[in-house]
Amino acid sequence: MILISSPRFQEHTTPPGHPERPERAEVFDQVAAAWGDRGGRVVAPRPATREELLRVHDAAHVDAMEATRGRAVMLDADTFTSPESYEIALLAAGAAVQAAEHALDAGETAVALVRPPGHHAERDKAMGFCLFNNVAVAAAAAIARGLTRVAVVDIDVHHGNGTQWMFYRDPRVLYVSTHQFPFYPGTGAADETGAGAGQGSTVNLPLAAGATDADYAAAYRTVAAELDRYVPELLLVSAGFDAHADDPLASMRMTAAGYAAVVKVLADTALRLGCPLALVTEGGYDLDALRACLESSLGVLA
Ligand SMILES: [Zn+2]
Repeated sequence: MILISSPRFQEHTTPPGHPERPERAEVFDQVAAAWGDRGGRVVAPRPATREELLRVHDAAHVDAMEATRGRAVMLDADTFTSPESYEIALLAAGAAVQAAEHALDAGETAVALVRPPGHHAERDKAMGFCLFNNVAVAAAAAIARGLTRVAVVDIDVHHGNGTQWMFYRDPRVLYVSTHQFPFYPGTGAADETGAGAGQGSTVNLPLAAGATDADYAAAYRTVAAELDRYVPELLLVSAGFDAHADDPLASMRMTAAGYAAVVKVLADTALRLGCPLALVTEGGYDLDALRACLESSLGVLA
């Protein structure tokens, strides 16, 4: 297994008091350093190319993000840039592609420790702390290589509206999400199941506020069954850890051990299906919980 990590992810700054703050990248760096100290491999990210971004984003959106270069801009009520954000967002998306490529080429699990997160970013707009949709850019890169069955499992407490809509009509991407519901961003009802040729390739498993490790364990038995049915050629995980009980944004009651159990279900399923696995971080806003969840998850994957 490799980690893709860089201290540069601290350079995207947000206004004081914002939960998606540079200290989150300090946690990533500490986790990566500890991994390296134990003999693990840590790889630096490379920026996503414009071609890679344009597979899931409109040119106007990519241009709008590029236009924030060198400036602090409010993109929506909770999404901000700082002067370095465009470059750092390119690195986050590039790291996600690298993780997918490494999983496919080396047959070895890869974990991209990135911010800003991605799964709320839509084709035409930044949203919910997200500038580019990192995991979607990675899924599209895999499809561009000729894959026809890419699964994205979103374990973040929020629904990944951006990822869902980008592939809603595309059977080449199975999008499966567990999330607090009803909750931000409002999407992710169980009856959102895809459309057209993509009918059935979106699976939403909404969970009521207060869900525990046991509730998640039950939900991930369903997720595993969906993956067994789809038989993906690549499994990407939108790895948000904000369903942890200590998270300040959401109201779930997960523990780091519960998250490790979820990651173990996904890793075991990938192994059983002979499917490469790559994880890309999303949310997780209590720093100690984020660290604990990453460590417990890496412990399962190693
Ligand atoms: Zn989230």
